[in-house]
Amino acid sequence: MLFRRVLILKRKPGSIILAILLLPALCIWGTNISKEHKLPVMSYALANQIIVVDAGHGGFDPGAIGPAKNLEKDITLAISRKLCSSLSQAGALVIALRENDEDLAGDDFSGSIRERKRKDLAIRVAKAQANNADIFISIHANADVSPRWSGAQTFYSGNSEKAKKIAIAIQDEFTRVLGNTTRKAKTGNYYITDNTDMAAVIVEVGFLSNANEEKLLISDEYQNKLVFAIFSGIANSQLEADVDTKK
Ligand SMILES: [Zn+2]
Repeated sequence: MLFRRVLILKRKPGSIILAILLLPALCIWGTNISKEHKLPVMSYALANQIIVVDAGHGGFDPGAIGPAKNLEKDITLAISRKLCSSLSQAGALVIALRENDEDLAGDDFSGSIRERKRKDLAIRVAKAQANNADIFISIHANADVSPRWSGAQTFYSGNSEKAKKIAIAIQDEFTRVLGNTTRKAKTGNYYITDNTDMAAVIVEVGFLSNANEEKLLISDEYQNKLVFAIFSGIANSQLEADVDTKK
């Protein structure tokens, strides 16, 4: 939008210098307009949507562990809390599957660790199903034996067109907002995406096995960027869905 305004100015004879002089002012003006214009529209797209936010792992299950010993379960919880708050402010009905450092199997569970993990996942899915959620967002951090890999990435079940749209929209926002990844949204088979009826997306916020990304993932500022990207991605996908249904 901003780019087009500058081109129009350039088309007028003798106004190239004026365009150059006005460019910084236009940039500030354009940014303000798009921000003010975009936020209420994004909020409208999310109003009354039932969105489950799943902070991956928790309690006995730390998930991945970074070189500086930061735990995936702590990072997913911090990001999920911020995401819940953004989505709620936009009018979405948010269900946080975990709000503390705990798993969902329950204190009195007496099976093996593997059975406990399975029960924990089954309860997460059951809660989303029981609440008739529209969207399921599961937050995780990636890890690999090689420390070289980095970048946030989304995954979705191949049989959900809606999940695919959300995953691609979030991935687009990661590329735009974070500016440090060229990864693409991918299909994947996960217990959660395979066992829920709603559009379910796994969001891997980055590689905890990469020392630089581990530092980013524990920073409040970077977590806010991630949350903004996830929030905008979900909102954008719903705006597109609205346009599609009105065609
Ligand atoms: Zn995980």
